[in-house]
Amino acid sequence: MRKILDAILADDLAAVGSLPLPSTYRGVTVRADEVEMFAGQSTQDKDPRRSLHVDDVATPELGPGEALVAVMASAVNYNTVWTSIFEPMDTFGFLRRYGKTSPLAQRHDLPYHVVGSDLAGVVLRTGPGVNAWQPGDEVVAHCLNVELEHPDGHADTMLDPEQRIWGFETNFGGLAELALVKSNQLMPKPNHLTWEEAACPGLVNSTAYRQLVSRNGADMKQGDTVLIWGASGGLGSYATQFALNGGATPVCVVGSEQKAEICRQMGAELIIDRNAEGYKFWKDEVTQDPKEWKRFGARIRELTGGDDPDIVFEHPGQETFGASVYVARKGGTIVTCASTSGFLHQYDNRYLWMNLKRIIGSHFANYREAWEANRLIAKGKIHPTLSSVYPMEQTGQAAYDVHRNAHQGKVGVLCLAPEEGLGVRDPELRERHLAAINRFRGV
Ligand code: NAP
Repeated sequence: MRKILDAILADDLAAVGSLPLPSTYRGVTVRADEVEMFAGQSTQDKDPRRSLHVDDVATPELGPGEALVAVMASAVNYNTVWTSIFEPMDTFGFLRRYGKTSPLAQRHDLPYHVVGSDLAGVVLRTGPGVNAWQPGDEVVAHCLNVELEHPDGHADTMLDPEQRIWGFETNFGGLAELALVKSNQLMPKPNHLTWEEAACPGLVNSTAYRQLVSRNGADMKQGDTVLIWGASGGLGSYATQFALNGGATPVCVVGSEQKAEICRQMGAELIIDRNAEGYKFWKDEVTQDPKEWKRFGARIRELTGGDDPDIVFEHPGQETFGASVYVARKGGTIVTCASTSGFLHQYDNRYLWMNLKRIIGSHFANYREAWEANRLIAKGKIHPTLSSVYPMEQTGQAAYDVHRNAHQGKVGVLCLAPEEGLGVRDPELRERHLAAINRFRGV
């Protein structure tokens, strides 16, 4: 591995394809024999620092249509939080089921799971049938792993019945020195970013793009009012940028003044601090409080000058969904990709049908959507929202921060990169956008 890293650091990318592959590599894992370690604890008390390990694991065999990538940097996504606390179920069930689908997929079914759904790095090897990418290419990877042997996936690959999230529902993820991906996950690394900056947008940027911008999601247009929950978080920090970039007006909901300030720095003007304003949408565990929905809706109108949201960008789920359905404008769209606070949503359906609102389910992004989202990053129109960076050995702490909602934007992880700041190929473009690239740093 040392020789591979030396070649990358020396910009001798032509050499990496001929250097021998190591038989093992270091990766962040959860272990199958530990899935019961948090039994009886509340979700909040489950500590990723106990369940995420850095282990030496065997380098997987390379199959057709695949690539092995030397990972310079990765990032923590909420799916790694779910994996690390074994909720809503442990991810070994995904690996077992995948393993049964083919002899090649069998490689993924192991007593450990190398996690992580983002990477920036260098292609080391490509398998048979890969023509678009070569060893030495500097890449990022999106996390859609899809088989595409079924007709359903051929209009929109997210509809393929064998669609999985790499590093969550498959093994050999990006929080590691090496990663195994399908070659159709690869995209060019944005030239003006460091490894850790380039690694951090992938999953959330692509997800927010489909959810908000794509025709498969809310199909946002100029002039739309967009209510964005968690507007400085992983998804929200990209949704806010897409809204501003696309001529819409974001109404940013955040949990602190510090997060409100970050939204202002992104260019948002309409901000609701949900904690300072004390919204309590649930009176108790089973009863919601429509008066609080109304108070929230009135506050949105006060900020917008009377407009209700054309689009509500949802992901907190149970806690906020009733309010989200209520505040969307007549004919408006609630687009959801998650349920962080609970997946059994409750809302008053009268507000939905009488006002002809729509709820749209959205999940990650197809290759085209991920590519378009990455292209916006590469052109400096959307910027990474990296706030802090940990060494791979401290991935547990990084996931703990995200689990506790103690982070801003994205939390990065250095894998092979020995330090931050490496990998920039276009310093001029970088210089033009430096303030925006660093907006979330050190907050
Ligand atoms: P994140 O970085 O933790 O950001 C989420 C933000 O939501 C938090 O910063 C918080 O902001 C806000 N929030 C959390 N709980 C809330 C609650 N009960 N009420 C209102 N706001 C709340 O996480 P993320 O990366 O954005 O991911 C969010 C969720 O989406 C996770 O469940 C994740 O698994 C899911 N996800 C799904 C997909 C997909 O493809 N389906 C892709 C990415 C993520 P404030 O405290 O500032 O309000």
